Amino acid sequence: MQKPKAVHQLTSAEFDEMFPDEEACKAYLVARRWPQGVCCPRCGNPGVYDLKSRKWHWQCSQCAPDGYRFSHIAGTIFENTNKPLRDWFKVAHLMLVSKKGMSALQIQRFMGFGSYETAWSMCHKIRAAMVEDIGKLGGIVEVDETCVGGNDKNRHIDKRSGKTGRGAGGKTPVLGAVRQG
Ligand SMILES: [Zn+2]
Repeated sequence: MQKPKAVHQLTSAEFDEMFPDEEACKAYLVARRWPQGVCCPRCGNPGVYDLKSRKWHWQCSQCAPDGYRFSHIAGTIFENTNKPLRDWFKVAHLMLVSKKGMSALQIQRFMGFGSYETAWSMCHKIRAAMVEDIGKLGGIVEVDETCVGGNDKNRHIDKRSGKTGRGAGGKTPVLGAVRQG
């Protein structure tokens, strides 16, 4: 039996290189979330249409008579916030790389957020998703395979789907991994 490989956690320099701007974050989220192509988050229909008028928006005509419109963040914890994805990614990354964990106050100071509540709420949502429903992080965080058994739904996306987007090797580095169980 092959020993599962630990997930490579991004360094700060790698983070900056991978996520230079908001567009890069959106593209990454879409690639991680839908490695085989965008599907409707509501009904799973893979035959969705690009909305020509709005980038990062799609339409599913299967689960709503007038068409269900959704964006890259629909159904994730990044929905309904006024913070850019890059801030979310950075906070999640900070939480994962700090060995002792970071307090909301430390996150607020590090990120330069005006309000403590914002920092607290982001930390809370990220932590809750890591524990309860990792899918709500849109695939940007994985479950470390060294700590879980052969549960299929926890398999690395790279292994299920082959290549996604970036790099000649076709392997997209993951933002970070969480230990469960
Ligand atoms: Zn649908």
